[in-house]
Amino acid sequence: MSGTIHYRACHLCEAICGLEITTRGAEIISIKGDKADPLSRGHICPKAVALKDIHEDPDRLRAPVKRVGDSWQEISWPEALETVASRLLESRECHGADSMAIYAGNPSVHNYGMMTHPQYALGYLRTRNRYSAT
Ligand code: SF4
Repeated sequence: MSGTIHYRACHLCEAICGLEITTRGAEIISIKGDKADPLSRGHICPKAVALKDIHEDPDRLRAPVKRVGDSWQEISWPEALETVASRLLESRECHGADSMAIYAGNPSVHNYGMMTHPQYALGYLRTRNRYSAT
């Protein structure tokens, strides 16, 4: 099978299995376990194979969207981040810091920045409300 091979870690759960992803252009040709991965040694579960379905799902969000009336309008990342930051500030000023809550799950605990710096980034929210399945 020809194509470009990418070695990645599955980010869907704590096992962090090694993946061998073959692509041709923007298309995913196959997703298999990486036999050289020292922990998973080539084993993966069906969820990793289904990453192709998620990647190709026409309903997957590929850019931030904003609700305008009854529909959704695509916006830029700077506008999305500015909107979220200003709305969080507004909420805190109107209702106090505990009007906000933080939920940490797999995507964030597999992110290096979120592993090392959340106390700075999320600490500024000063909310007592923190949730996690772990
Ligand atoms: S392949 Fe399955 S078991 Fe391995 S990290 Fe992904 S979801 Fe978890």
